[in-house]
This record gives sequence, C-alpha cells and structure tokens, in this order.
Amino acid sequence: MSHFYHSTRNGSDVVTSKQAILQGLAPDGGLFVTDALGERKLDLGRVAGQDFHANARMVLGELLDDYSAEELSESVAAAYGAQWDTPAVTPVTQLGDSWLLELYHGPTCAFKDVALQMLPQLMSRARKGDGRNVMIVTATSGDTGKAALDGFADVEGTGVCVFYPWGKVSDIQHLQMVTQKGYNVAVCGIRGNFDDAQTEVKQIFADEPLAERLAARNVVLSSANSINVGRLAPQVTYYFDAYAQLVRSGAVGLGAPVEFCVPTGNFGDVLAGYFAKCLGLPVARLIVASNANNVLTDFITTGTYDRRRPFVKTISPSMDILVSSNLERLLYYASDGDCELVASLMADLADKGCYTVPAALKARIGETFSCGFADDGRTRATIRSAWEDQHKLVDPHTAVALSVSADQPAAGVPRVCLSTASPYKFCSDVLGALGVDTSGMNGFACMDALAHLTGTEAPRQLSSLRESELLHDDVCDTDRMPGFVESVCARVFL
Ligand SMILES: *Cc1c(COP(=O)(O)O)cnc(C)c1O
Repeated sequence: MSHFYHSTRNGSDVVTSKQAILQGLAPDGGLFVTDALGERKLDLGRVAGQDFHANARMVLGELLDDYSAEELSESVAAAYGAQWDTPAVTPVTQLGDSWLLELYHGPTCAFKDVALQMLPQLMSRARKGDGRNVMIVTATSGDTGKAALDGFADVEGTGVCVFYPWGKVSDIQHLQMVTQKGYNVAVCGIRGNFDDAQTEVKQIFADEPLAERLAARNVVLSSANSINVGRLAPQVTYYFDAYAQLVRSGAVGLGAPVEFCVPTGNFGDVLAGYFAKCLGLPVARLIVASNANNVLTDFITTGTYDRRRPFVKTISPSMDILVSSNLERLLYYASDGDCELVASLMADLADKGCYTVPAALKARIGETFSCGFADDGRTRATIRSAWEDQHKLVDPHTAVALSVSADQPAAGVPRVCLSTASPYKFCSDVLGALGVDTSGMNGFACMDALAHLTGTEAPRQLSSLRESELLHDDVCDTDRMPGFVESVCARVFL
C-alpha cells in the first residue's frame, strides 16, 4: 500500500484513504492529498479495452489502495448499476467538431451522481473498520441534496439528513427531495435562505454536547462535501473512460493527446481531470469554464485569487461560487507539495479575502490550465445556437463550457466538453433561452412545453415525479435543526 493521505497544510500526520474519507476535512482545515499520485501510471491500452465498471475499479484501486479488490468491485457494481439510464454510464457523443461527455444519466440527472452514488459505498465499507454509524448532514440550495439523498438511501451503517430553504428551490428540485424513499433518509425545509441553513449546519458540526450524546449512540456526524477524497476519486474515472470511448470509436489514436473543457464551481470536476493527467492520461490542456462569478478566470490569468467581489446569481447556479475549495489541492501539487506555502496562502484568503501565488507557481498552473467565462447572455445564446444549429439541447452549465470552448483556439487536438446536467433539470431557463415566456408556468408545465417545442423527451427520473408519493413534509425554524438531526439519528440508528 502506498497511498497515504495527509493535509495540504501539513505533511506529517498521515491517514489511510478510508480514514480520509470518513474524516472529510483534515483537522487543520486542509484537504487530504497523497504524495503517491502519479508515481504509477495506468496502462492506457488496458483502459481503452475496458468498460466503465472496469475503469472505475482500476482508477479507484490506484487512488484508494487500502480498499480490497472485492470491496471496490462491490462498490462499483452498487454505484453504477441499473439506476443509470445507460449501461455506458457516462457516454461520449459528438457535437459539431468536438465531443460531449454526458455526465447526467444518473438517478438525479446531474453529474454529482457519479461521485455521490459512490461515496456512500466507500463510507459504508470504511466505517466497518471502526464500527460507528455515520449520519450525513447537509444544507442544499437544490442539486446536491437530492444527489446525496439518493446515494445514501438504504446504505448500511449510514443515514442522511438534508435541509433546504423552504419555498426557495424549484418545483422539480422540491419534488425530487420530498419524494425520496429509504429507511435512513430525512428531508426538512427551513424558514430562511440557503446561507441560514448552511450556517446552522456548521454549528451542528461544532456542537460538542450533541456530538457526545450521539457518540453514546455510536453515531458520528459527517458531510458529503465535494472536498471529500471519496467524491474526488470517482470523478477521475470518466476522464479515462471518455478517452477509452474515443479510442474505440477511432477519434483518437492510442496515446494521442486530448483536451477537456470543464464547467467549474468548486474546482472538483476539473481537478479530477488533473488527477487523470497525473495518472498518465494524455491531457494536453484543461480549460476552466466559469460563469459571471469568474474568480478562477482572474486567478489563472493573473495569479491573484480575490474573492472580494459581488456574488452574481446566474442561470448556472451550481457554479455560483466565490471560494473554489478544491483549488487548494492544485496549489499543493503545482508547488511540488509545499505545505507551508499552501497554509500561508489559505491564511491570506481567510484574513484578507485574497492571495497571490509566486510567479513560478502561476506559470506551472498555466502549463496545463486555460480559462474563460461566459455571462448569462452568452450562455443563453449558446443554448439557442446549440439547439438551432446542431439540434442538441444543453443545460445552462454545459452551455457555459460550450461558450468558453468556442473562444479557445483549436490546438489540433480533439476536445471534450463536460456536460454536467440534463436540460430538463433547468426547463424554465432553457425555455427562456429558446425564446419562450414561462411566467406563470410550474415545473411540469415547463417540462411539457420543452418536450413539445423540441420533440425530445424528459428523462424518466424527472417525469416520474408526477406519480411519486410525497413522503416528507417537515418544515422548521433554523433553531430546531439540531433537534431534528438528533431525532433522525434516534430513529435510524436504534
Ligand atoms: C456542481 C456542478 C458543477 C460544478 O462542479 P465543481 O466540481 O463544483 O466544479 C457544474 N455543473 C453542475 C450541473 C453541477 O451540479
């Protein structure tokens, strides 16, 4: 075994990948990294001949090497089974002269399923070592909550408790959550906005008397945050698997380079592409595509990360982020593992709201990463032209990537744009981009209108919500959230 993990801010305390997955964040606030990343390269010939499941076992076996082959193969079978609407799991399709990697064929129709179907499997097997039950507590503005609920539902030794701002998520997102089945799930609306919910969840994690009472029941609280190694590692798979598909279709010769354009918020998805490159995938370039919250565009261009700017609410809400947490891992690797530097940059970010990296580090990042951003106007225009010119319906997050990709000079290398959500998850904004006035229409009316206008079909995962039973109707004030979590723990872990 070679992949021990330690904090980006301190190299001395090491843990196994199972421990890193159970802990989520390192005790000093840093993110878990492994210095063995890239010591071994994956065999591309083998990758190209394998299906998604085999590639997932291979990638996870490399990054999480304290899991047994049997544990990984059970996890892969459970995470990427019949809940996906295609056996390819993440198919690559052609779009004009580039390619789309479709990551939205999972149970909740967004790319977070790739990671959140796997994380519960990894956590469940990691906790067997210490025997404790894990209760996931998370606040959501819409997408992550449903993906976490679906992933953790009925997974042994785990439970999940999701808080959403009541009346402030879309009709469809609301229905997706309140119809969730599973003996170990709980959903509660709160009176307030997403930040109120998030603030209270942080207080719940810091509540020591609560932690002690739960420990007496053999329960530990955890989060399903995208900084968890158990969310990052599964995302590396689809970079390799996309390459395998391109090789098999003849679009790329084995060993020839490709580039990826990735719509980015927390920097998790595009960082997984960097991991793939470290593991031997011939990635010529990673293009970081942002919306109007273009803090990463500025960082990659200037070397200064500055979060002190207005927060813009956009039609690609899962990318409305001013602090891209996973960037810390890139700073670690691109500085050749300089924990002291990373710790001081992160202290600057916390104290002053900004930091500047040394010129050599900026240059190193620029060797692999390009960047660009698209505001809502460009994003809408791209949704429209993708439909009118190519007959491809895309969601706003994917459209951000396509807009940025169009600005980037072709390097004579096949380019893959990551497509992160079904357009049917964002019916109203997609219709708006196609010129339809949706005022007064509810979620299902928009779904019908989009299907009618384009002659496409809503994914079954979303259209079936019409017939689903409403199972959760709890709503509370934020001061009741700790009590709600405790009662859920008592119910789930008898
Ligand atoms: C979360 C999300 C993203 C951004 O992914 P990061 O890993 O945060 O960069 C992009 N598109 C959709 C649809 C998402 O849900």
